[in-house]
Amino acid sequence: MQANVVTPDGTVFDGEVNMISVRTIEGELGILPRHLPLVTPLDIGPVRLKQDGKVQLIALSGGFMEVRGDEVNVLAESAELPSDIDITRARAAKERAERRLQEAKKENIDFRRAELALKRALNRLDVAQG
Ligand code: ATP
Repeated sequence: MQANVVTPDGTVFDGEVNMISVRTIEGELGILPRHLPLVTPLDIGPVRLKQDGKVQLIALSGGFMEVRGDEVNVLAESAELPSDIDITRARAAKERAERRLQEAKKENIDFRRAELALKRALNRLDVAQG
């Protein structure tokens, strides 16, 4: 299948894959060739693109996936290859978010925002470290 991952900044991945797995808002989903047509929202999480023998990881910060024929298109809010992830920046974002979670009240909008920022930072650190 042909897989495509794009963000507002440009194309992050474009290539032939045997399988793609993503985190939808309802859980993990693996797509093999000849999958039924599908459009689904994606959660913050890793994308795994399997190419003969190797796996390309991408840190995804949410978006949408469209499966159509032998084409999978991921439209991402942001997406980074492991080599493009700035670990120092992700660690700083993680610490900032953790601090905000301690300060903000649970029902507060800043709390939810900090939770999402923490999730993005942890995902980037996971993907950067394989
Ligand atoms: P930060 O607080 O560090 O900006 P964030 O989670 O708020 O993190 P996003 O809004 O998800 O950042 O992303 C903004 C842009 O910065 C996107 O283009 C994203 O790819 C890029 N980006 C964010 N964090 C990193 C990182 N640690 N390494 C590389 N690129 C990053």
